[in-house]
Amino acid sequence: MFEDRRPSGEYGSGDLPVRPALRHELNPDGTLSVHPPKHCPRRHPVSDSGTFSWIVALRLHSLICHRCRDDGHADHQWALIDPAYEQADLGQATRAGLELVAVAPDEVAGPGRIELHVDGHAIGASTLAVCPQDRVGVLEHVQVDDGSRRRGYGRILALAAFSRLGWSTDGPPWVRGDRRVRALRAAQHGAGYTWTTTLIENTPEARGFAEWLPLPSVGEPRYCWHMLDAAARFT
Ligand SMILES: [Zn+2]
Ligand SMILES: [Zn+2]
Repeated sequence: MFEDRRPSGEYGSGDLPVRPALRHELNPDGTLSVHPPKHCPRRHPVSDSGTFSWIVALRLHSLICHRCRDDGHADHQWALIDPAYEQADLGQATRAGLELVAVAPDEVAGPGRIELHVDGHAIGASTLAVCPQDRVGVLEHVQVDDGSRRRGYGRILALAAFSRLGWSTDGPPWVRGDRRVRALRAAQHGAGYTWTTTLIENTPEARGFAEWLPLPSVGEPRYCWHMLDAAARFT
């Protein structure tokens, strides 16, 4: 059967772990600052031993830590993403490289989803409900295809969900900046949201993921009545 294969070698360079180590900041004057990481995970300073490059297959920047490489660590190179900023709406996805694609719910507080796409194919997703009125969110599920595990994709999907403070980022037309800038502004206003999760599966992988989640507790979802109403209409 015919398969559209990538040229050999290209996939190899794109088959990297992805870390949420990039941060975009919206300044008071409406401009954006991009903050790359200052250290590798082993605390080697990027200024001394890091090299940034562009990974065509992923359409993301990557970072190589030469000290980690010289010490023989296999994870000396990884791709960088800002899960809060680098999200596309379904209609705006480029279908090239690695993309976080937000699929909005039919109504506010209903179940929505963030998919992780590689060249337009979904390889994982997080599902969540968010209520901007009660400032609560429930992370319901994070799933990554078997063949795409151990690359940090689950973490990216969870952080992308936690950055989601409502689905509509349409502001008045005089507001400066594109949709993502408005989303960042919404995120700044959204500090103080309370996130919970549904029950975590009792597998070592799921327990490890739960321990990593930046939440005080996991496994006890707190739905507001807007969410329950929306879910009842949805089913
Ligand atoms: Zn290092
Ligand atoms: Zn609510």
